[in-house]
Amino acid sequence: MKNCISCNMPLNGELDFALRGEVKEYCIYCSRADGSMKSFDEAKESMIKYVIKTHDLTPKEAEKGVLIVMKKLPAWKNNFT
Ligand SMILES: [Zn+2]
Repeated sequence: MKNCISCNMPLNGELDFALRGEVKEYCIYCSRADGSMKSFDEAKESMIKYVIKTHDLTPKEAEKGVLIVMKKLPAWKNNFT
């Protein structure tokens, strides 16, 4: 099973892929409307919003957690050197 290189969400089926039926390395949440992958800052912002909503964290706590996750992901490893 593959995981999104940007947010680590499992890519289980074609609906999770950026463009339907097309194999992508990243999920729909990490894609722009045109199908390209979001930038580091865009992906970070959307993940922060997501964890605030789902885990009831403050923005500061959420950012800290998101950065820990992003640091481990192939799409962003160059952003942490
Ligand atoms: Zn993703």
